[in-house]
Amino acid sequence: MKRARVGKVTVLAGGVGAARLLRGVAALVRPSDLTVIVNTADDDVFHGLHVSPDVDTILYTLSGLADPGRGWGLLGDTFHAIDALGRYGGDNWFRLGDRDLATHLFRTEELRAGRPLSAVTAAQARGLGVKVNVLPMSDGRVRTIIDSPQGRLSFQEYLVRERARPTVRSIRYEGIRTAKPAPGVLAAVEQADIVMIAPSNPFVSIGPILGLSGVRAALRRATAPVVAVSPLIGGRPVKGPADRMMRSLGMKPSPLPVADLYKDLLDGLVIDTADRSFVRALEKRGLRVATTNTLMKTPARSTAVAREVLSLADSVRAALAS
Ligand code: GDP
Ligand code: CA
Repeated sequence: MKRARVGKVTVLAGGVGAARLLRGVAALVRPSDLTVIVNTADDDVFHGLHVSPDVDTILYTLSGLADPGRGWGLLGDTFHAIDALGRYGGDNWFRLGDRDLATHLFRTEELRAGRPLSAVTAAQARGLGVKVNVLPMSDGRVRTIIDSPQGRLSFQEYLVRERARPTVRSIRYEGIRTAKPAPGVLAAVEQADIVMIAPSNPFVSIGPILGLSGVRAALRRATAPVVAVSPLIGGRPVKGPADRMMRSLGMKPSPLPVADLYKDLLDGLVIDTADRSFVRALEKRGLRVATTNTLMKTPARSTAVAREVLSLADSVRAALAS
């Protein structure tokens, strides 16, 4: 496919929702023009290994190695090692695949040798043949903590072990005040011609990125259009707990809370056709809105949604210029 020059595109990303959009963006934008800033607040250590679930989902997707059905891990991977661990009574609720282990072994070893996560991620991207610039949001340690009636849960405990069942009383990003954006993150926002916010969970995927010192301010200052895709379709997420989190936190799941969470920095929002009744309310908030089928089950749908985002960004730019 011919990739036109649309200028520099920077995408704020979590895991699976972001990966689905990125597969489309990468079909339209040259890799040297594309930067992805990836959430690392749901990183965790399992069996001594540093796992960066969102970074891995993005790298595996951009290299064509992902399992698109499952939304995480490598296509065709097996789980013998983690199952064997279970035989000793070891924790095995976080499913690390056999081939996937290589990613975590390499990352852990490099981090132990003192290399920053951003350098390790760049090396992994090179190893996988990914030419897109993939930046972890920070080289520092930020961890999402879910406060629930069961007490404090790490994000993976909440999502994977407890299957997102506990009520969410509040969400904290531990370490967010001291962690700095990784090298290149602020520049990628400042120098972008278009900033996209992927249809990722606004609380636990995009929230930590926006919480890093200087990021929100850079987005507010940016002259580039900032355009998001809603992760909810008809009030329901395609996958994951975004709607439950909204309800737990006293919001009614729809594109409106998504718009409100980004309101100080957002210019445009792409929503699903199922949510077209919200167009008026969103426009009243000063947003430009596009509606389309946002379910990206196939690469063709990903490309169609990415095209919609680019064209909405164009219309924001045109409106600003006039
Ligand atoms: P995670 O870190 O892997 O959970 O990933 P994200 O935060 O990136 O993705 C979770 C969000 O992506 C959920 O709220 C989903 O509703 C959303 N999502 C996943 N697939 C799609 C899709 O095809 N279209 C849209 N609009 N949202 C999606
Ligand atoms: Ca994630």
